[in-house]
Amino acid sequence: MKTIEKTILLPVIVVFCAVMTVVAISFTMSLNNADKAAGAAAAEYSEQTIGLIKDRLNIFEETLHAGVGLFAGRTSISSAQFGEFINTSAVLERYSGAQSVGYVKIVEGANIGTFSDNIRSKENPTFTIWPEGRRAIYAPLIYVEPRSDSNKQAIGYDIYSDPDRSKTANIARDTGRAAITDVVQSIIDQENGGQSFVMYIPQYKHGLPTATVDQRRAAIEGFMFMGFRINTFVESVIPSEKAESISFKITMGTSKEEFYTAPDYDDITNRGHHKLENSLDVGGNVLNFSFAYDKNSQFSTGDSRPTAILIFGLVAAILIAGAVWLILRGKANELLLEQERGINEAKDNLLSLASHQLRTPATGVKQYLGLLIQGFAGEVTEQQQQLLEKAYAGNERQLKTINDVLYLARLGSGRIVLSKSTFLMRDLIKDIVRELGDEVRSRHHRVTVNVPKRKKQYYGDAHMIRMAVENLITNALKYTRDGGKISIILKYDKNNMRISVKDNGIGIEQDQQDRLFEQFERIDNDLSIAVGGSGIGLYVVRNIAGMHDGHVEVVSEIGHGSTFTLVLPHKRGDK
Ligand code: ADP
Repeated sequence: MKTIEKTILLPVIVVFCAVMTVVAISFTMSLNNADKAAGAAAAEYSEQTIGLIKDRLNIFEETLHAGVGLFAGRTSISSAQFGEFINTSAVLERYSGAQSVGYVKIVEGANIGTFSDNIRSKENPTFTIWPEGRRAIYAPLIYVEPRSDSNKQAIGYDIYSDPDRSKTANIARDTGRAAITDVVQSIIDQENGGQSFVMYIPQYKHGLPTATVDQRRAAIEGFMFMGFRINTFVESVIPSEKAESISFKITMGTSKEEFYTAPDYDDITNRGHHKLENSLDVGGNVLNFSFAYDKNSQFSTGDSRPTAILIFGLVAAILIAGAVWLILRGKANELLLEQERGINEAKDNLLSLASHQLRTPATGVKQYLGLLIQGFAGEVTEQQQQLLEKAYAGNERQLKTINDVLYLARLGSGRIVLSKSTFLMRDLIKDIVRELGDEVRSRHHRVTVNVPKRKKQYYGDAHMIRMAVENLITNALKYTRDGGKISIILKYDKNNMRISVKDNGIGIEQDQQDRLFEQFERIDNDLSIAVGGSGIGLYVVRNIAGMHDGHVEVVSEIGHGSTFTLVLPHKRGDK
């Protein structure tokens, strides 16, 4: 990643985190609200459910009380009268949930025979009390409605034969109120293991006092009862349409015997849930309700606010962070540009300083040395001449380095503009070789120039090309031991003009050949220290070649010499 991006990343992350913190707080608050809302919805649902069950049981209780009223003032009623009463009240049709409604009569053990005979002769020839067995008191079921085949099977059943039923009936007898059994097996549907419960209301003999328990025990004549299949009862009372995220389970009594479990209850409790416990006192018994509702019910119940806050918050955070990123990057780039402008200005100043303060005096030194060498200031001894020539060569190298550095600086500040013209390459090469004559002689090199006879013009920046070729030739002179052979060959092929500088110098390792063209790259060898250099030359050559759409090739073998070729494509301006 670029440094600007790295620098601005931290503030952008801080902004993003700050916005996300606000989003997270809002999300949690809204989630809590949704949680509360789900809790309130669950409480409402629980109240509704319990209320429905309570109301329905109340209605049935009232019906049974009304049934008790039927007996008031009569010594006995027939099963037809009983049936008529139930059918007229139409309670079973209007309020579903009860399986049967009926009457059981208390009969002393001693009278059971007469009692049965009586019923058999008057109403029901097949009447039998069941289950068999001698009991002190019997409470056989004598009427049942609706008189379906299955309900009729219950006729004659002695509820005192079952401890659960007799216990509940006696509670009703002693309290004078409705009493409800625990979960009992249905007597008409035993094969299917039907879980049921029964409600009893006592019916006392007419005209007897019922103020105390003892009086009520003495006055008891029978019970109105209503039988319920648990599942049918609950499911007919509770509306089948409800939120998917809530369910309930009912247990009965202090022993918490399982009463009813809604089909999706386990599903919800397995998912992680909240619980709401409640209870309902019914007929001396208690129904314990356990409501379970989904922890994520705010989503499933359609409260999408928390999700919306999260999504919009995230989008907002990304947008804000993105905007901050763009603004900061823009500012940083501006600053960088300003900085660059400042650096370029400083570079320019340095350039003019270098050109005036370094190049001008160095050029002056060259001229004066030239004058001295040529004897304009009087004759010089041979020793003086040698020293002057060394000074002249040193000054040349200094000038070349100054020129290279200046070129580099101009290149960096984008101030190089080619000044193109047509010129003869062969003449330019010969001119350079002539100019370098002193150095060639001092190193005892043999330089040959091989150019085609044809005078072909090249269109380019003569000054730049001169600099490039001069660099290649100077390198050949530098990196070849004294007395070496250097040949410069100018050739034309179909597409290019090729200027090769071949030496039999120290050569370059294969794996080093690429890096030679990098800025300030020098390779350590026997001659590199002695001949000096800046590591800029070949970089400049490659650049100049590039500006003329050309390139530089190198072929070299260590210990045998190198050939550098400047390859320049033919131009339209060439002649
Ligand atoms: P400089 O000559 O100033 O060090 P250059 O960029 O001109 O820088 O050359 C880079 C390196 O390439 C030189 O240091 C030298 O080691 C190697 N080099 C260049 N030309 C030759 C050559 N003709 N023979 C052998 N080595 C060369």
